[in-house]
Amino acid sequence: MAEAKTVHSPALTYFSMISLLTLCPPFVILLWYTMVHADGSVLQTWDYLKQHGVQGFIDIWPRPTAIAWKLIACYAAFEAALQLFLPGKTVEGPISPCGNRPVYKANGMQAYAVTLITYLSLWWFGIFNPAIVYDHLGEIYSALIFGSFIFCIFLYIKGHVAPSSTDSGSSGNIIIDFYWGMELYPRIGKNFDIKVFTNCRFGMMSWAVLAVTYCIKQYEENGKVADSMLVNTILMLVYVTKFFWWEAGYWNTMDIAHDRAGFYICWGCLVWVPSIYTSPGMYLVNHPVNLGIQLAIYILLAGITCIYINYDCDRQRQEFRRTNGKCLVWGKAPSKIVASYTTTSGETKSSLLLTSGWWGLSRHFHYVPEILAAFFWTVPALFDHFLPYFYVLFLTILLFDRAKRDDDRCRSKYGKYWKKYCEKVRYRIIPGIY
Ligand code: NDP
Repeated sequence: MAEAKTVHSPALTYFSMISLLTLCPPFVILLWYTMVHADGSVLQTWDYLKQHGVQGFIDIWPRPTAIAWKLIACYAAFEAALQLFLPGKTVEGPISPCGNRPVYKANGMQAYAVTLITYLSLWWFGIFNPAIVYDHLGEIYSALIFGSFIFCIFLYIKGHVAPSSTDSGSSGNIIIDFYWGMELYPRIGKNFDIKVFTNCRFGMMSWAVLAVTYCIKQYEENGKVADSMLVNTILMLVYVTKFFWWEAGYWNTMDIAHDRAGFYICWGCLVWVPSIYTSPGMYLVNHPVNLGIQLAIYILLAGITCIYINYDCDRQRQEFRRTNGKCLVWGKAPSKIVASYTTTSGETKSSLLLTSGWWGLSRHFHYVPEILAAFFWTVPALFDHFLPYFYVLFLTILLFDRAKRDDDRCRSKYGKYWKKYCEKVRYRIIPGIY
């Protein structure tokens, strides 16, 4: 594995890896407990833990039950079947560091539509009540925590004994291999791409499914859905719809094209996305805030605008790359840098770097509307508690770190061309500030 994984100092890298490995699982449970059983109040959970200590924490950690495993297994099998069998256009991913070009079946939007229609129909026709998912949420997260850990061990072993492509290998350190992963494109057989399953069809899909679940739970409890919940659910669904609309584009991003399949990305998508990303909606189930029609519409419009700008940034970059720079960016011919680089197999290739449009404002401007959109689907919770805003805070830290990781990776890939890009587009994320 030739890619340098330690962007930060080795001490900080190990500290953050060990911290995330050990702290994320209990955090997921504490967040769920606070949202569902402690009124969303961190202080209430804190008081409980102060009084009852470690035993109190063990007591609130739900054991994975048979129903939780069944729900997860049905959902995972359904999504895997859709991924395998729904028709879709064949698309190629970007050239990998070892010079491979992975091939995918683009059927994400179809899978998304079939999933939501099936889920809502099961509820509508009285076959399955999504409120059951909410009622067993703690057990489901607990099962996901343990199940996904075992799955990451499987990925580690597979990477050692049966890698799917030459884009794999060990760093020589077991913790780094487990945490960052061994394989870039692990597959089962020729067609079942594991990262498409974990990141898109399980993780991102669960976000939409849970957003709908929270809405239905509030309806079942109160006989109506508060406007705050509606704004939250609509914005999250618009965001996830945008994701699946653009899923083939996602296969060109860092998550798929650069991050290997290990704990960081796979455990994150299997556990962190369904629990933390959906958490503002989880909070709203028991807090039916009434915003009033005018405020609700303002928040909705602001959120949709941010999601659109985020989409347009990604679209602009991909359109520019797809047409080899022969497109219009904001109505004009794009300004660009032709950057050459060497693959790990020693071949020289070139890429185009866009320096106008959104990509001329800052090198990662698209993270600004991404963070603002998250703020807008959280703000219907108003400001009684901090915890619903945890995802916004987490996302801000994640994306600022990601911008640094991406800049460092691009600097080592493109050398002097990246330096030229940085001279032309000086700010990393927020134009004029950072
Ligand atoms: P990007 O889409 O920003 O892709 C980064 C890559 O694009 C770089 O590694 C480089 O790859 C290429 N690139 C960089 N600058 C340019 C340029 N000027 N012109 C052309 N290509 C360039 O990756 P992300 O994965 O960070 O973001 C994708 C989307 O996912 C965004 O909308 C982001 O907001 C969202 N996201 C959401 C997260 C969440 O948890 N909610 C987390 C992360 C991302 P190359 O080697 O090909 O040159």
